[in-house]
Amino acid sequence: MTARSKTSLDLKVEALPGVGTESAKLLERLGIRTIGDLLWHLPTRYLDFSNIRPVRQLLADREQTTEAIVGSIGQRRTARGQMMTEVELLDPADLRPSGVKATWFGRQFIKERFREGQLIRLSGKATWFGRSLQLSNPKVEPADAERVHTGRMVPVYKLTEGLKEGHLRRWLHTAVEGAPKRSPVVSEVPDELPPAIRERRELLPLPEALKEVHFPSTEARLIEGRRRLAFDELLVLQLGLAQRRARWQRDAKAPKLLSSDALVRDWIAGLPFTLTAGQLAAFDEIRADIGRTIPMSRLLEGDVGSGKTVVAALAARIAVASGAQAALMAPTELLAEQHFRTLTMLFANGGPAVRLLTSSVTASDRREILASLASGELDVVVGTHALVVEGVEFKTLGLAVVDEQHRFGVRQRTTLREKGVDPHLLLTTATPIPRTLTQTIYRDLDLSVLKELPAGRQDIRTEVRPPEALPKVWPWLRDHVANGEQAFIVTPRIDPSDGDDSSPSAIETFDELRAGPLKGLRIALLHGRMPAKERDATMRAFAARELEVLVATTVVEVGIDVPNATVMVILGAERFGLAQLHQLRGRVGRGDKRSFAVLVSDDASDSERLQAMVELKDGKPLDGFALAQRDLEIRGAGEFLGDEQSGVDELRIVDLKDVDPRLARETAEDADAILGTDPTLERPEHAGLAVAVEALWRRYALA
Ligand code: ADP
Ligand code: MG
Repeated sequence: MTARSKTSLDLKVEALPGVGTESAKLLERLGIRTIGDLLWHLPTRYLDFSNIRPVRQLLADREQTTEAIVGSIGQRRTARGQMMTEVELLDPADLRPSGVKATWFGRQFIKERFREGQLIRLSGKATWFGRSLQLSNPKVEPADAERVHTGRMVPVYKLTEGLKEGHLRRWLHTAVEGAPKRSPVVSEVPDELPPAIRERRELLPLPEALKEVHFPSTEARLIEGRRRLAFDELLVLQLGLAQRRARWQRDAKAPKLLSSDALVRDWIAGLPFTLTAGQLAAFDEIRADIGRTIPMSRLLEGDVGSGKTVVAALAARIAVASGAQAALMAPTELLAEQHFRTLTMLFANGGPAVRLLTSSVTASDRREILASLASGELDVVVGTHALVVEGVEFKTLGLAVVDEQHRFGVRQRTTLREKGVDPHLLLTTATPIPRTLTQTIYRDLDLSVLKELPAGRQDIRTEVRPPEALPKVWPWLRDHVANGEQAFIVTPRIDPSDGDDSSPSAIETFDELRAGPLKGLRIALLHGRMPAKERDATMRAFAARELEVLVATTVVEVGIDVPNATVMVILGAERFGLAQLHQLRGRVGRGDKRSFAVLVSDDASDSERLQAMVELKDGKPLDGFALAQRDLEIRGAGEFLGDEQSGVDELRIVDLKDVDPRLARETAEDADAILGTDPTLERPEHAGLAVAVEALWRRYALA
């Protein structure tokens, strides 16, 4: 790869006229060291001052621009001791008072910079003050000056303490428009996009796009400029994803897992229930994938209880029938145990041998399991991600099923590779992933979706209530318990010292309920700071109906199956995402009894969002996908891109919650076309793209 030759973009910001040492220090706090960095400090929003009106025709309460002559300048201290500068504005048409005043608070410079009789341009909002209009703290510059702060779409930037917005805007203006006798540095920004693509997609050249994004000539040009920057960012993302996928498909070699139709039909017929159409379709897709030597990378999405584990178990049977092994990995020990029970039940008559590998397995059992996996004697193992990924050697791992960890990375996939054989990978998740994300950041995975729940599942009657209603909720909950049913009470945090908000905590709630409204019930506390053993014991006691009520944080895991639990009360519901509420709610309604969820929130402003949990479509509650999409729109992508540790966060320009489908499609096509001729981005004309892919990958730790 050739290093790009040095340009002005590599110069320290001080090289820009007007930026001194002090300013450079402030800019450094924003991560800006070079002029190039500065150019990529993009506006967060714009003030639209492009509406220009004569001073006497200013309208109240909207942003606009006018030109006026400075009349008398007065200064005084307000009652609160603040300096106020007041300028009488004269109409340039007749030099008479316009009746409009401009006032500034605490801004000494106005008096120093402007003098009586000067023609100035002002932008801002006018408001009525008694009977005259007044512009408060308008932006202002001499009327014969270039439009930087007034009279146009004006960019607004993220600042840091001590940095003046006017200064930052001025520097960026210099960078994109140039200074007297200096060409703008933006013109040196290298355009890495192959020209053919730029032309076909009708994109602005990069320097022009940057200029329009900082100082738009019109709103339409701004949109064009942003489209160009978004295109680049998405293209680079798509290239990285496609390369990763191609590498995986080319270098990895998986065993062909095949079994006869007759066998498969027998297994399905032997299940204690009829598969849903969705399960059958997903299974067909998986079966086709694992019959090839290209390793499968498939994501199986389906609501809690939609029957994903069953589909995975069928795939595992094909693996075993083909002489390979299968591993099923869960995020927690409890879930691993549950999967183990499901598999044991499904494999009861004539199925393969299954063992459970968790940290509670005795040392000698563990040795035995590991040995039998290495020798190939044991067909199927169920365990936690950590245990299976890190410490196990298989004879031939044909299929790895990974539950609830959809960002399962390449590094982990590589660890699963044994003796030159790569397993087929099936990721299962109950976290519905919105389309805009499956078309972008998850594009390297194939998708199977279980849309329906098995027949006979009950809708969970859901209500949103304020905390004032709780005195009625608790006796109602007691009635259900008296009926032999069980209840969950979920809170957003463990104890009152977590976070600075006032939402209910598990510990307080537990103490209050036990001493008061739920006195006499068999009630226990469950949260993430309890030792794992104690947590498991509590959960087990609840599953065994030794406990009636569980006060818990969200450690009540995804997928936990307690069919006798019918009541879910979620306190501080405004703290949770809709997809998360949906999953929590899925802890109940797993048996044949009528189940209920009560979402308690004192945040009236949030109640519309929470109502989505109650909303019906075609007589059915919104499914996890609809709720996830709603969440994405309201709360952003953070929830889907996973935990902060992974560093996966919003992209810089593209808003993942609102990706233009056309842009997603175009960049995907172009990425494939580029890689079709140059799979490793080795060609000189792709050097810039290769660097960009690497940088994006590092930044988002996507590897
Ligand atoms: P998921 O993993 O998607 O949460 P599971 O595969 O664990 O769902 O299935 C949830 C429960 O539903 C299990 O008890 C399973 O045996 C049962 N189940 C799965 N598929 C069906 C079906 N088609 N009909 C009836 N019950 C089913
Ligand atoms: Mg499951």
